[in-house]
Formats: sequence, structure tokens, C-alpha cells
Amino acid sequence: MSDDHVPDDHPRHDSLVTRHRIEDGVERGITSKQGLIAEGRGEAFDYLLGEETIPSADDAERVAAALLLRARHPVLSVNGNVAALVPDDIVDLAAATGADIEVNLFGRTEERMRAIADYLEEHGAEDVKGLTGDGRIPGLSHDRGTVDADGIGDADVVLVPLEDGDRAEALGEMGKTEIVVDLNPLSRSAQVAAVPIIDNIIRAVPNITRHARDLADADDAELAAVIEGFDREAALDAAEARIREGATRREDD
Ligand code: ATP
Repeated sequence: MSDDHVPDDHPRHDSLVTRHRIEDGVERGITSKQGLIAEGRGEAFDYLLGEETIPSADDAERVAAALLLRARHPVLSVNGNVAALVPDDIVDLAAATGADIEVNLFGRTEERMRAIADYLEEHGAEDVKGLTGDGRIPGLSHDRGTVDADGIGDADVVLVPLEDGDRAEALGEMGKTEIVVDLNPLSRSAQVAAVPIIDNIIRAVPNITRHARDLADADDAELAAVIEGFDREAALDAAEARIREGATRREDD
């Protein structure tokens, strides 16, 4: 049994774990009701992907690890769904890559920002950013464009899981290298990302960490080679093809 009391061999294991955590997140004031809807949308894509990390996503996760390790200032952006789903894994990834963690909400309220920062700190995060809010993402209205000047404002590589398309686009326009985790390869966030990872956040974040640990002793040339070999269009196409295959699976049976 996992910590969420879902049997490990249950055929819908990941989806049930995810639902439990999101429900709990809403109860704690971490996840918004909008977050529940986002979760439902993600689940449908995960169902079609076969609830597994497909090979192209694993490749993208290795590239993400190399980018985070090679960055001048990497930042992991955390919203209400991410905090509810993978608090420990985000802390581990930050430790493995030397990244900062910043709370970054679409619907920013001080109360929810604080609740998420506290929750991450309970899970071992140190110096969670986002509460200062003295930086801006140009081109977005005030609430949606608020970041920390010494966090996402200063970052060169940002991991933005489950991000809204507008903000993903605006961050890209600021010249940041964006790594997006999103189960929908057609979402605008995935489409604008330098590295789109089409995978469930609950599998993606620990897998990026595994790759980061594996690459910890790699020199700069090795990291550069991992990054240069990546083809974002091919990664999106592979995920789309898998989803199409998932949608027609019954006909083929
Ligand atoms: P966009 O504005 O980028 O086109 P959207 O309007 O669909 O996307 P939202 O509904 O704000 O964006 O965000 C939800 C996104 O997060 C969806 O694309 C969904 O597939 C994705 N998502 C939800 N849960 C997960 C999860 N556990 N792991 C990865 N992605 C997820």
C-alpha cells in the first residue's frame, strides 16, 4: 500500500493517489477549486497515455535534469496542484539540482501563498520564494504576473509544471528556458516550452531527480550533449501518437 492507502497493484493506482492528494490539498487551502478541474483534465490524458512515463517523456526528463544542473539560477515553480501532489519530490529535486523553489499562483492570494510555503517547509523546503512578489512578468496583469525579483525574476531555467498557457508564453518571452510538465501535448504551455514533458507530475518530478543524480558527475560537455540531442517537436509528436493509440485501443483489441 502507498501512503495514500491505495493498493500498489490497483489498476488505477496513480489516478487514485492523485485524486486523494488533490482532495486533501483543497481541504488544506493549498489547492484551488480550479485545481480540481485541472486535475480532471490531466487524468483523461494520463488514461490515454497508459498511466506510464513514455520513452520520449523519460528522454525529456533527462534533458530537464541536465538543464537544471547546468543553469546559472534554476527555479522550480510550484502551484497549488504541484504542492498537493509532490511536496517531497519537489524538495528532493531542488536539493539534487541546487534549484530555488518559488510559489507561483494563477489566482494569487496571500493566504494560499502562505499555506503552500508552510506546507513545503513542513516537507523540508528551505527559503521558499514567492511571498515577496517584487518582480513582474511583463505582459500579464498584476496578480498573474507577480514573481520574486531574486527568484523567477532572476532565473535562467524555470521548471513550470501544470502552468497556464499565457504565463508559460510570457515567461518564454522573458528569455527564460522553460521546462513544462503537462499531460496534454496540445496545451499552449506544452507547445511553447523549450522542453515539454508530457507526463504526470507524480512520475515526472522523481524521475527528473533520478536523472539529476545520475548526471551529478557529468562535465559540462556531457550535459550540453544531452541537451543538444533533444527535439521538442519529436517529443510532442510521440506523446500525441501515444494518446491517439490509447484512444483507439479498444478498436484494435
Ligand atoms: P493551456 O492554457 O496551457 O492551453 P489549460 O487551459 O488546459 O492549458 P489549465 O486547465 O490551467 O490549462 O491547466 C491544467 C493543465 O495541467 C492541463 O493541460 C492538464 O493536462 C495538466 N495537468 C493536470 N494534472 C496534471 C498532472 N498530475 N500532471 C501533469 N499535468 C497535469
